[in-house]
Amino acid sequence: MKCLILDKAGFPRSKLCAGWITPEVVADLEMDVAAYPYRFLTFDVTRIHLYGLSFTQRSPQHSIRRYEFDHWLLQRSGAPVVRHDVKRIERHRNGFVIDDDFECAYLVGAGGTGCPVHRSLFREANPRTRLLQAVALEHEFPYEWTDGDCHLWFFEQGLPGYSWYVPKQDGYLNLGVGAIAWRLKRQGQHVGAHWENFLSVLRRRGLIANTIELSPQGYSYYLRDRIDTDRIGNAFLIGDAAGLATRDLAEGIAPAVRSGILAANAIADGTDYELGSVSAYSLPPGLPRRMLEYLLLRRGTAPAA
Ligand SMILES: Cc1cc2nc3c(=O)[nH]c(=O)nc-3n(C[C@H](O)[C@H](O)[C@H](O)COP(=O)(O)OP(=O)(O)OC[C@H]3O[C@@H](n4cnc5c(N)ncnc54)[C@H](O)[C@@H]3O)c2cc1C
Repeated sequence: MKCLILDKAGFPRSKLCAGWITPEVVADLEMDVAAYPYRFLTFDVTRIHLYGLSFTQRSPQHSIRRYEFDHWLLQRSGAPVVRHDVKRIERHRNGFVIDDDFECAYLVGAGGTGCPVHRSLFREANPRTRLLQAVALEHEFPYEWTDGDCHLWFFEQGLPGYSWYVPKQDGYLNLGVGAIAWRLKRQGQHVGAHWENFLSVLRRRGLIANTIELSPQGYSYYLRDRIDTDRIGNAFLIGDAAGLATRDLAEGIAPAVRSGILAANAIADGTDYELGSVSAYSLPPGLPRRMLEYLLLRRGTAPAA
């Protein structure tokens, strides 16, 4: 098929993301890990810290750097990439015209939270719910870590979310704090204060040096809601543009990859584009998943915009 990727960033580009990927992502992308040319680390265990208790979850997970991984994926796809900040999308005969510069028969909205395809074509059909908006602060930097396990701290100091320590191969580290936006606001808290608290936890445990200076950046995205409309004619939404991150751990890479493959299949083979087969959860069904979802999202009314 003749494809074109438009992205406002030039690749390789930074993407705020812990870069934790599941074995499902590796399988869906048919990755030959041994041949992957960039940083790839496997954790056999994840260390969970919850209300002062620490325990170990045994299930292999992986880390990559999005800076490298996304660039590699684009190159592997073989599709041409044009750097272009999409502003305006119009329907035209049986297809779409983008900023008067590009024309296509099929359009896949993969532009993340602020995706112009969502904004132009799907905003009313598939509105965003502020109850499910997550905010995160993160910093990824070169660091000679000594603990090669992934650590997650849930609900520290009342955080309606969790903080992470995700090491990368060959001396890189990703630290971050993520939370449900309306709950933070209702508690009169700011994610920045939780970030400072998190750094003191890491320093106390000797996971980072006392002297290290960090300057995190923020991003916001939406967790999975009921999806009313994921396709309008030949326009599709995938990944964060559709709001597919999981409701328990706010992971969005696996749903972005799976939905992208489904959209590609729908265009190539005419199969249904059915997001029901993209899981809304990271954890398997059971009590931990139900508890985590409840503790994160709770029931409530989001404050007015
Ligand atoms: C701090 C943080 C940590 C996270 N950690 C994890 C994690 O460890 N594991 C996990 O599974 N998920 C994680 N997530 C979620 C995950 O990053 C996203 O769900 C995932 O990247 C969604 O992929 P996407 O392709 O839909 O969107 P994105 O990765 O956001 O890609 C969107 C692309 O669209 C481009 N774009 C945007 N607007 C335009 C425009 N107008 N014109 C042209 N191009 C445009 C952007 O430049 C970008 O390249 C994290 C999120 C955050 C914020």
